[in-house]
Amino acid sequence: MNQPTTAAQWHARAAGLVHEPRPFINGAYRRADAGDTFDSVNPATGEVVARLPSCSQRDVDQAVLAARHAFDHRAWVGQGPLARKAVLIGIAERMEAAAVDLALMDCLEVGKPITSALQEVTVAASFFRYYGEALDKIYGAVAPSDHTALGISVMEPVGVVAAIVPWNFPIINASLKIAPALAAGNSVVLKPSEIASLSALALAGIAAEAGLPAGVLNVLSGLGHGAGRDLSRHADVDMVTFTGSTATGAKIMENSAAHGFKRVLLECGGKSPQVVFNDGVDLDAIAESLIQDAFWNQGQVCVARCRLLIEKGLEDQFFAAAADILQHWQPADPLDPATRFGAIAGRPFFDNILRHIETAKQDGARVMAGGHAAHQKTGGLFITPTVLTGVQPGTAILQQEVFGPVLTVQTFEGEDEALRHANDTQYGLAATIWTQSLARGVRMGRGVRAGKVRVQASAPHGEGSGFALASEPMGQSGFGVEFGMAGLKSYTTLKAIEFLV
Ligand code: NAD
Repeated sequence: MNQPTTAAQWHARAAGLVHEPRPFINGAYRRADAGDTFDSVNPATGEVVARLPSCSQRDVDQAVLAARHAFDHRAWVGQGPLARKAVLIGIAERMEAAAVDLALMDCLEVGKPITSALQEVTVAASFFRYYGEALDKIYGAVAPSDHTALGISVMEPVGVVAAIVPWNFPIINASLKIAPALAAGNSVVLKPSEIASLSALALAGIAAEAGLPAGVLNVLSGLGHGAGRDLSRHADVDMVTFTGSTATGAKIMENSAAHGFKRVLLECGGKSPQVVFNDGVDLDAIAESLIQDAFWNQGQVCVARCRLLIEKGLEDQFFAAAADILQHWQPADPLDPATRFGAIAGRPFFDNILRHIETAKQDGARVMAGGHAAHQKTGGLFITPTVLTGVQPGTAILQQEVFGPVLTVQTFEGEDEALRHANDTQYGLAATIWTQSLARGVRMGRGVRAGKVRVQASAPHGEGSGFALASEPMGQSGFGVEFGMAGLKSYTTLKAIEFLV
């Protein structure tokens, strides 16, 4: 069926959307063990999208057993690289063919604009293509030795990988774990967020159709303190790859230490700055980027640039530009293809964001834009993009992750103060430096404590490095490399074999 082009067509398509609610274990959708369920709710309307099984310890056991069996019997890694590559690329092709349904699932479950959800399916599919193409191009190494020895390093898969992911980019979060883990030859058990499970469940069926052997990918719907906890403690899991909050990441680490010393990869929270120097940067030309990087996905982005540090003298120009631009960033129906700003993903997040705004006001912040709920009669959870100034160092709004559409604006004078403000956070995920000076860009780029740093002189045009540029978080944002070729190696273990003759 053709891709809908109007809001009415998207609504009609959503009304007829068919989804698979059962967990995918050992190559098939199966009935969950117990009768416990939870509802996933459309945050734009308050309507239930799906009732899903809350997978139990027994479901977790079965999924891990299937993954272990597939790994130990080399069902996947025993196939040659060319065959595995074809399967991963086949998954990408099938995802693209199913893009409308996958995008609808994410749009309905988390309230993101349908246009963004569609782009995200394309991005997620590109991970399978990238890692499919990569898997026959990574090599081990030969160590220097005398002629009586040959020492080689080979990259082996880790084994059974448990992947636990959040809801903000459902299909991307799942694919960013599954694609490199499979490319490296592992078996995977994925638990998506209870807020958004449908596209991950659908992806399991797509992978099976593309030829992935039974047991190699299993997907369980469930709660964090249920299936998530049981999976991260399971004795037969070799690695837990996690994306989510820093608080949950800490629990995953504890569980790893207490239950078999599993390898852990943690991508956690952020409070990322963008720093604008008054050294010739054209503020009007970059204002759209500043807004986009703060409010994209309703600000529910780990790398959202939610702290704007602006050199004294530029602030009024920014507030004037932001007022114009934000007229086009008002909350609206996520199923309308013209919408660029949708709903907040769930009631607890919505309440938390509004609480943060109130606390900031009590701490002296002034609201320059937004700051309130919108469209409440629809039953949806909408908050206007909010710009706060007058924020004081050390207050909660500058220290805690809001994970919503709230941008704080601080001013500074000179590089030292800019760097002090930029690094005044427990997190270390991302940062952007806007400057016309190459020397300043180098100093700030090296000095800012964050894993992903962009230094820009003007508004971006062109593609950039995108997914190919690997990085690792710092501080309480976690550790372990994702993206690019290094992201594939995160799912391997290095074995040394020395032949002595
Ligand atoms: P969350 O930590 O509440 O949940 C993430 C996942 O962990 C979910 O699947 C959840 O069910 C599961 N979980 C919860 N408690 C668990 C437990 N005790 N044991 C095992 N699993 C458990 O986070 P969220 O609200 O889904 O997502 C928002 C957070 O994710 C934000 O902090 C955001 O910054 C972070 N995030 C980080 C990145 C990154 O790349 N660094 C990307 C996206 C989101």
